[in-house]
Parts: sequence; C-alpha cells; structure tokens
Amino acid sequence: MENKLHNNIESIRSRMQEAAAKANRNVSDILLCAACKTQTVELVRASAQYSIDLFGENHAQELIEKYDNNAYLAKPAHFIGHLQSNKVKYVVGRAEIIQSVDSIKLLKIIEKEALKKNTLQKVLIEINIGDEESKSGIEEDMLPEIIDYASTLNAVSIRGLMCIPPICESETEARRYFADLRELFEKNKSNKYDNIAMEVLSMGMSSDYEAAILEGSTMIRVGTAIYGARKYKYQQV
Ligand SMILES: *Cc1c(COP(=O)(O)O)cnc(C)c1O
Repeated sequence: MENKLHNNIESIRSRMQEAAAKANRNVSDILLCAACKTQTVELVRASAQYSIDLFGENHAQELIEKYDNNAYLAKPAHFIGHLQSNKVKYVVGRAEIIQSVDSIKLLKIIEKEALKKNTLQKVLIEINIGDEESKSGIEEDMLPEIIDYASTLNAVSIRGLMCIPPICESETEARRYFADLRELFEKNKSNKYDNIAMEVLSMGMSSDYEAAILEGSTMIRVGTAIYGARKYKYQQV
C-alpha cells in the first residue's frame, strides 16, 4: 500500500508539473492538499512522508482524531467540509485554514472561538460557483457583504476563495467554472482591508485538477487519486 501511495503521489506531481508548464506557471506556486476523509490515521500517516503539502478534512471528528494522533507528521491540516456551528470549537486551533466558510453567522462563531483561544484563524470563502441549489458555498454576489463584515473582525483573516464546481461532462466546461472563480479572486485582490488578502485559490479535485491549474488554482484538493476509492463506514444510499 505504501508503494502505491508513493506512486500515486509521484504521478500527481508529474501531472501537476505538466499542467503548470502548459500554463506557463511555476509548479511551486501550487500546493497539493490530500483530501483524506474516511482514511485511517495509519494510512494518512503513511502518506504524510511523501510529497504532500497539507491535508484536508471534512469532519471535525476525523480532524481531531488524526491531528491528535500525529497522522499529519507536522504538516498543516485544513478544514474543507461543511462546518456546523457546534463543531467550530474543535476546528479552530487545529485547522491552519478553514476553507469552507459560507456565512456571516459562521464567521461570527469562528471569531468568538479564535478570540477565546487567542489565535488568528485564517479562512477561505467557499463560493457556489455553479449556483447549484444542493451545494454549499455563498453566491458570488454575496462576497462583498461577507468581506465587509469580515473586515470588522479581529481574530479572523480571509486568505482567498474555494469552490467545488458542478460535475462536468468535459474539461472545457470545468475550465469555465474555474475561470469564473479566478476572475472573482482577481477582482477582490485589491481591497482596503488589512485582514483580507486574496492569496489562496483552492480549486481542482482528482478528476479536474489539471483544468484547475490551467485556470490559476494555487491549491488542488485530491483524495481518490491518492488513496483510491473511499470506503464509508456506513452504506451511502
Ligand atoms: C472529497 C473532497 C475532495 C477530493 O475529492 P476527490 O474526487 O476524491 O479527489 C476535494 N474537496 C472537497 C471539499 C472534498 O470533500
């Protein structure tokens, strides 16, 4: 299994390199986040010795378990799943960045928790780029309001944007969504607030990370292509 992990990661690295070259970009400007939901402490720790920059978790419980058992080998962990208010206290202090912030209410709770822990919590705003009803993330036109609100906070800093686009039939279609997010990212780069910077553009998963790199992604979140198909504890119906 360790050999397999190593091979998978090396193959992603070389495809990242190719996509970056195609886009005339420096591959060192693109981070590889291992999306390790449902993977065990042991497997995640085995993967951490290879060329992964950071880990992404979707559930507070898994973040606690892996963080507290040194599964990440001192690499950072980000929170990338939908975050419930009552779980914020477990995530602040463990996640370097909470990538999935999608409401003012959540920002408010993160601020309170970060103040309590005397830390500065970095976050990304998740954008529902395909305007899908079933998806989390804010609508694009809500972003100025969120940014204005976040500018009043003392313990929260917005560092960029994240998206999960709709399932696409073709690379061309996927690139359109990624280009939309990139445009929004660029548009908000020059703003007047100290605690808001557009540095991280988190987009691209196993099936579309090359398209995302071609459109300017600075962080791809890859699960299946590293660990193989996920086994859920409970049957998904
Ligand atoms: C699971 C997950 C990924 C990775 O998905 P794969 O298709 O397995 O690469 C990326 N981002 C988020 C938010 C996820 O939940």
